[in-house]
Amino acid sequence: MMPVEMYDLDPIDRRIVAALQVNGRASWTDIAQLAGTSVTTVARRAQQLFADGLVKVTAAPHPGGGPADLLIVRIRCAAGSQLPAAQALAAMPEVRFVALVTGVYDLVAEVLVPKGVSLHSVLLNGLQRIPGVEGSVADLELHTYKSTHEWSRHLLGTGSQLVAPPPVHDCPPAHLDELDEQIIAALREDGRASFQSVAVGLGVSESTVRRRFESLYTAGCVQVITLVPAAALGFEAEILFWLSVAPSRLDAVARELAALRGVRYVAATLGQESLMCEVILPTHADVFEFTTKTLGEIDGIQAWTAGVELLTVKRGFVVTPWAARRLAAEVGDAAGSGATSAAPVATAVPTTRAESPGPVKGNGRTARSRRVSS
Ligand SMILES: [Zn+2]
Repeated sequence: MMPVEMYDLDPIDRRIVAALQVNGRASWTDIAQLAGTSVTTVARRAQQLFADGLVKVTAAPHPGGGPADLLIVRIRCAAGSQLPAAQALAAMPEVRFVALVTGVYDLVAEVLVPKGVSLHSVLLNGLQRIPGVEGSVADLELHTYKSTHEWSRHLLGTGSQLVAPPPVHDCPPAHLDELDEQIIAALREDGRASFQSVAVGLGVSESTVRRRFESLYTAGCVQVITLVPAAALGFEAEILFWLSVAPSRLDAVARELAALRGVRYVAATLGQESLMCEVILPTHADVFEFTTKTLGEIDGIQAWTAGVELLTVKRGFVVTPWAARRLAAEVGDAAGSGATSAAPVATAVPTTRAESPGPVKGNGRTARSRRVSS
């Protein structure tokens, strides 16, 4: 595997990002209070993090267009083709998540397949035809127990006054009309865009945009998520686990795992391993503790396999800006044109940064980069 570029932020930056993860549209004033610094400092630092392509706030519609099945696919690639294959996957609009991982498989992807479309055609005509894909195993996700984008909230301490976002739901097409879809689309590139600028772009009034968005947000039709590499917030380990669980204990084990702070995703799947979970932990020692104490002591877990996430290429239907930079540098624009149509962010990252990934400069932050090999 290629070295994965990561950034390590100072405590104030981390608190700003943690606040954005709780509420991506929180005011600079609210965030400044939580971060313990001035409003101008918060605004300046946050804008720098966005400009550096390290943090992205985006509106993530829960998949519109009606009911869908979710497949979790593990993919094996030919040597050297992991990044281009990941890019090709990320360009598929039905793909919600893609990561490069360690282990037997090279890539993990979540694919939404609308009801009525055959899973078979998506797998055979879509995934299997991607150059470099040598094999895959796809498991149907049966139930999501936990999926959180605010996994860093505890960095804010116990006094955090930001209200957690309303729970999202499976949004039937009837919930969103054309203007709703356009407002969400406008907030995908910049989830903090002002209602005024969205209104100007769409030729409607600011109050219409505000009213529409707030109603969608409160109802759970749309969420505003903040993407950041876990390493930037000081978390060394971002790991996907597949657990074999005794059927009679499946639900209880899933709930027990979902209650843990370091677990950001838990889902029951139809496969040899019946639970999948994603874990974000500060150190590899914590991973050892998680496997020996947590997994080792929960009754009903019979076996597990795991893969370390080396590069999160797409999450919440959005190509992460830091992966876009890697892809632009290592795969190139020709292959990247497909990905950009599915995820406009890829075009927003200056190639100069891609050609010389290095320490983040400016504004006195102590940001630095380090390289980690798998
Ligand atoms: Zn809805």
